[in-house]
Amino acid sequence: MLKETYKEAEAKYQDLQIKLKHWSHQYYIENNSEVADAVYDAHLQELIALEAAYPDLMEADSITQTVGTGVYKTSFNKIAHAIPMMSLANAFGEQDIRAWEERINRIIGAETVRTYVFELKVDGLSISIDYKNGNLYRAATRGDGKLGEDVTPNIFTIKSLPKNILGLGDCTVRGEVYLPKAEFIKVNEARANQGLDLYANPRNTASGALRQLDPKITAERNLDIICYGLHLAKDADGEVSENSTADSDDKVFTHWHALKQLDDWGFHVNKGGNHLCTSIEEVINLYHEWQEKKDSLDLEIDGAVVKINETHLQKTLGVTSKFPRWAMALKFTAEEAITKVISVDYEVGRTGIITPVANLEPVLLAGTTVKRATLHNFDQIARLGVGLGDKVSVRKAGEIIPEIVSVIRDDVNAENGVVQGALLENEIRSQIQKLSKCPVCDSVLEQEDVALRCPNIVGCAAQIQRRIEHWVSRNALDISGLGPSIIEQLLEVKLISNPLDLYRLRYEQLIDLERMADKSVNNLLAAIQASRGKAFHRFLHALGIKHVGLNVAQLIASLIPNLSELEHEVLVNNGQELLKLDGLGEKILASLVQFFHSEIYVQIKKDYYELGFDFIEITQRKLSDRFSGLTFVITGTLSESRSYFEKLIKDNGGKTSSSVSKSTSYLLCGDEAGSKLEKANSLGVKVLVEGEFRRMLELPY
Ligand code: AMP
Ligand code: ZN
Repeated sequence: MLKETYKEAEAKYQDLQIKLKHWSHQYYIENNSEVADAVYDAHLQELIALEAAYPDLMEADSITQTVGTGVYKTSFNKIAHAIPMMSLANAFGEQDIRAWEERINRIIGAETVRTYVFELKVDGLSISIDYKNGNLYRAATRGDGKLGEDVTPNIFTIKSLPKNILGLGDCTVRGEVYLPKAEFIKVNEARANQGLDLYANPRNTASGALRQLDPKITAERNLDIICYGLHLAKDADGEVSENSTADSDDKVFTHWHALKQLDDWGFHVNKGGNHLCTSIEEVINLYHEWQEKKDSLDLEIDGAVVKINETHLQKTLGVTSKFPRWAMALKFTAEEAITKVISVDYEVGRTGIITPVANLEPVLLAGTTVKRATLHNFDQIARLGVGLGDKVSVRKAGEIIPEIVSVIRDDVNAENGVVQGALLENEIRSQIQKLSKCPVCDSVLEQEDVALRCPNIVGCAAQIQRRIEHWVSRNALDISGLGPSIIEQLLEVKLISNPLDLYRLRYEQLIDLERMADKSVNNLLAAIQASRGKAFHRFLHALGIKHVGLNVAQLIASLIPNLSELEHEVLVNNGQELLKLDGLGEKILASLVQFFHSEIYVQIKKDYYELGFDFIEITQRKLSDRFSGLTFVITGTLSESRSYFEKLIKDNGGKTSSSVSKSTSYLLCGDEAGSKLEKANSLGVKVLVEGEFRRMLELPY
């Protein structure tokens, strides 16, 4: 195998950086794909490989580190919507739909022939996309309906969205950006494996992904879009409104025609969900039908939308200050219910994050009675403008606990009785006060991104409780029979104050607890003891280190299955060996560093050794014990990558280290070796060339 010299590698590295940065800028900022995605990816992979092989080539602003545009923004620019982006009035059932038809009839006359377009209401984020001369030119979020945020580079990352269309002049396309359910599940699985908090629902995830200052992050999420509105250039004269498909040239004179046009141009429209109906009965039937089958879709819908099809009738009906009179959102009732907020509790999580949870007037939702719903964080409370006693809409999103989606108020300004139970947006109230102190331990809270955190890591009873619950959970040390209420009792009577105290518990202490009997005490004690024999990676996961979920724990344990060595690697060796692992980056390392410096670790460490723990890692099958007890350091250029030799050494029972010391057994030395060779010579460490090394393992060269 031909090996490039360091100099060649350096030149290639620079070349790749320049090319990739240029293409990335073209793609995200200039909207121009100079090369195919595959070419871009191949170059990026080459760069990543080079950086792995020659870590000191890596520059701080490498495209692999700073990602994306190379343009650093701190906020989004604002874009004014030529045609306001409006809300929709809500109907919560058949009756509301019929009432809507009656109101329409009062304005246009019952005898006026009209058709209805039935669409699905995709639960994502509305977006307005301007095309100029058929080219995607800019895109903005709804914002307050008048001013949105410029998310053009992010919108460019949506693969299914046409970027240049022959025959399309200037126009605005409106649609809903969403995260397909399958993608949402994938993202959350990955997060679970990294030990990160799960995203609550596809909508919030999509929103987070779209509102990234770095579009490269948006691109990772595989967002998609469904389009439902088209405004041709002359619409902006103020006569038409959101979703209206009017056009003064009368090229497009029904909404149905507009949807067809969008489809012909290659936009995703909801073909399976859109229907042209001749009567309100048909609309109602479809509404019931979709309520039943909505889960079969790969996207979340929170209802349907009905629109008057004829543009001239849309104009006659006009708009209120908040929404068009000619359209209506038909909410599915089962998964969303209206109830009242009674009070708010504050839950303290394992890492001290405070989650506000609303106590609700019990309400039936998707077959279960709901009494509580999450409010996520205080930003969310402000966004919703929710206060105590408010009428709210709660929703069930998959398996996760219900959440409050909106506040419902009867609109006093309703014109012609058009509005019932409409949502008022952007009305920020502050009845639910932001907490300043931890509700459990009274510590002053700290702000961390959108969340508030209790900093009292070792002393906060809530955090201790959550940590112990995590410790005993199935993927961690799997101690059955130790549910939350027993843990709570143990904490209350001060029998435990950290997870390792569990291992000191005795029969006499447990038998007096509530709901404990001879058999359950013995079982519990046995389960606790059995957990001492579990694999090291489970212990590592049980420690609850941020970003160290089961998968990362396994990865770490495959290299260093031992607590004291891991501490040494992280604190003394600065994680140099860990960082070579595929899938372990600076973020995880930083979190490990933080953990090993934390008070939690100080506490655990003491008990760990006092109690004589020795978790064993079941690593991959060893090839031999030929190198057992030996430590290798590798330097210089060899015929294969460094990780290839490291794996060989480990698979044969040896260890590797990154620096030469007296305890180094061998220095495996390739071409152009530098200071390590000198050091080895001065310390009298044995030096091996590749041939000798291979002979030790009886490997061909
Ligand atoms: P709301 O925000 O509940 O008042 O509902 C109005 C929003 O529904 C619009 O701004 C769109 O973002 C969204 N929406 C989703 N699907 C559709 C659709 N098919 N037609 C119109 N609006 C839709
Ligand atoms: Zn606390």
